Amino acid sequence: MKTALVTGGSRGIGAAIVLALARKGFTVILNYRSDDAAASGVAEQVAALGGECVLARADVSDVAQVDALFADIDSRFGQLDVLVCNAGVLRDTLLGASEPADFDDIFSVNISGVVNCCRQASRRMVARRRGAIVNMSSVAATRPGRGQSNYAASKGAVEAFTKALAVELAPRGIRVNAVAPGVIETDMTRDIRALAPQELNKRILLRRVGGAHEVAAVVAFLCGDEASYVTAQVWHVDGGFKAE
Ligand code: NAP
Repeated sequence: MKTALVTGGSRGIGAAIVLALARKGFTVILNYRSDDAAASGVAEQVAALGGECVLARADVSDVAQVDALFADIDSRFGQLDVLVCNAGVLRDTLLGASEPADFDDIFSVNISGVVNCCRQASRRMVARRRGAIVNMSSVAATRPGRGQSNYAASKGAVEAFTKALAVELAPRGIRVNAVAPGVIETDMTRDIRALAPQELNKRILLRRVGGAHEVAAVVAFLCGDEASYVTAQVWHVDGGFKAE
């Protein structure tokens, strides 16, 4: 049995990752922050596939909750093979119109949440000399839109952290990669997609937004043994997103 923890697995890209990993035979621990019904719905889909999915409600920005989550994983499974740090939030706003709290909220989930989970996971993986970690970045880290200074900075931090952690953990046989999606059809991008769909598509070589399953397929690859020689990379899954 191999176990995988997916943060933010109740909706969107995270839910697609939970399903992709379940199809690969992983027992999936589905973390989410608040939406019990959505999380249960994903677990039911996993059960319909004949897979196993355990729900784990916790706010990844809260160190105590993350520590409790990992203690629970220890007692229930005794091991963790894969960590996918997918939970993230968006709060686009022009910097001049923003409040300090806007930056704090984005950073506490998008980067501190990743660090909190990677710290706990790496301790367990180092002890077993095996494991794979995938952190969710964004096209915004390198090609941000207007009003994305907070989000872009947090995702840039995710990419730098991912590469540094890969250096630290490679001697212990643990791979660490990031995935940087473009515009994907989820709740998070509903407003952006509704604003000017034609303009948006013109900036994408494939002329369409992506599906969550298309990101999940790349994440699942990076989590598996097929990617045994891949670490310290940022994989772009953006249909060929062009800078302005
Ligand atoms: P989404 O549809 O808004 O779903 C976000 C998920 O994260 C939900 O399951 C939510 O759980 C969970 N979450 C949020 N804050 C959390 C916290 N503090 N602790 C635990 N879980 C938390 O987002 P998405 O579009 O699927 O995006 C997933 C990831 O991909 C994010 O990191 C995002 O930045 C990145 N990304 C998305 C796109 C895109 O186009 N959609 C593009 C680039 C990068 P609850 O509902 O229970 O709160």
